Amino acid sequence: MWYERLGSDNSYRAFNPGNYYNVGGNSKFYGAVLMRYRAEDFGAIQHREGVSPAWPFAYDELEPWYSQAEQLYQVRGISGEDPTEPFHSQDYAFSPVPEEPAIAQVRQRLKANGLHPFSMPLGVDIDRWLRKAKTPWDAHPNCDDGKMDAETTALAKALCYKNVRLQTGSRVTRLKTVADGKRIEKVCFIKDGQEQELSPKLVILSAGAVQSAALLLRSASAQQPQGLANSSGQVGRNFMNHNASAVLAISPWYKNTSVYQKTFGFNDFYFSDDEGGAPLGNVQLLGRVSGKILKANLPRVPQWLLNKVSSHAIDFYAMSEDIPHPESRISVDGERIIMQWKRTNWQAHLDLVKKLKTVLKAAGFPIVLSRTFDKRTPSHQCGTVRMGHDPAMAPLDVYCRAYDHPNLFVVDASFLPTSAAVNPALTIAAQALRVAAHISAKDLQS
Ligand SMILES: Cc1cc2nc3c(=O)[nH]c(=O)nc-3n(C[C@H](O)[C@H](O)[C@H](O)COP(=O)(O)OP(=O)(O)OC[C@H]3O[C@@H](n4cnc5c(N)ncnc54)[C@H](O)[C@@H]3O)c2cc1C
Repeated sequence: MWYERLGSDNSYRAFNPGNYYNVGGNSKFYGAVLMRYRAEDFGAIQHREGVSPAWPFAYDELEPWYSQAEQLYQVRGISGEDPTEPFHSQDYAFSPVPEEPAIAQVRQRLKANGLHPFSMPLGVDIDRWLRKAKTPWDAHPNCDDGKMDAETTALAKALCYKNVRLQTGSRVTRLKTVADGKRIEKVCFIKDGQEQELSPKLVILSAGAVQSAALLLRSASAQQPQGLANSSGQVGRNFMNHNASAVLAISPWYKNTSVYQKTFGFNDFYFSDDEGGAPLGNVQLLGRVSGKILKANLPRVPQWLLNKVSSHAIDFYAMSEDIPHPESRISVDGERIIMQWKRTNWQAHLDLVKKLKTVLKAAGFPIVLSRTFDKRTPSHQCGTVRMGHDPAMAPLDVYCRAYDHPNLFVVDASFLPTSAAVNPALTIAAQALRVAAHISAKDLQS
């Protein structure tokens, strides 16, 4: 459970954030959309409610690592369909996941109306996936059955090295520094109810944007009362999570016979609202929303009716950028994790949903319903231990190394300086590969 502060009187409401703790992390359950940030996302972007700041390096710096990450995660895709797509130095190794006929029909209608739908880059071997069961893959855990995740791709490769060992069932509780605070000396963890310690030369913290920040804050000591890696005071701040909504387009004349559905997206409103205004965001298909999924959200509506609605609906995900804000933050109160998400750029998201409804109506869906993902669904959490050139404003340098402790790297969604309006996993993987190469080249591990 995490907690949300209710008012200024320190009362909290507990919530289940829908995050997963397992080998492979949240990518075990993710939607497997493995998409690059757009090149422009690395520069400053003026949004309706503020500026999304520039990254400390340009797209070109990460590009080769995006290519490597795409190869590692066996991403299925095709270049050239999306006008916002950045330069690729390497083609996708696999062609896109085949589109089902009911979905191809809608893609065609949107295209005929002037939009630019593109095949989504996906880490799914669909033949292997469907062999197990005819289901979508969103939110289904992978058991090495065709969905590429951090365990089945990256970790499996790492474990081939003799000097790599995986220890499961261990929860890290604290990092300790040497007396002058300059180096991490110990990693404290609990396994089988026993407190244990490791004393590594190099520590790479990759617990996810919320847990990594919480661990650094909980590791406060007399020398570092603000927590570790936190002389900037920025650890836990700049928490971002996309503004996102599910949008269901329904027509009595449309029959959705698809199983997985999730094959195309469009970025026609990514850089502008199409009328010269500010950026709105990305639209992509969701995994198929069945009658049972609808029932979980609408318990009073009879199942037969929801099944009927689902069979005539196609389901989208609209996603808009959240801009970093110092008061949007993760903090800790003892063992409790407190999430105070200050949403930004909300009007842009409402406008994206409005635009999407208009284009779906024009494509032959007279009923279009939307539902915002709750503030307490931090699936795309990021930004809490950001990287930057200025140690006064960012805890990490451009290789994710803590300015305060040279033997500590934080390599997970925490480092992201901005959220863009793109699913985060491929960018995290690309930067992880870049950081690993840097550590290896500089021989920092010894
Ligand atoms: C339902 C869902 C769907 C999503 N779909 C997509 C998608 O389609 N595309 C996309 O790009 N992104 C998607 N995301 C987001 C994506 O999964 C995350 O951005 C990504 O996995 C974050 O990677 P990470 O390395 O930061 O953290 P994680 O993947 O969360 O990994 C953190 C790891 O640290 C471990 N850990 C945490 N705390 C401790 C501790 N104290 N001690 C020891 N271990 C610890 C956890 O068990 C976990 O293994 C989705 C997320 C969810 C929840």
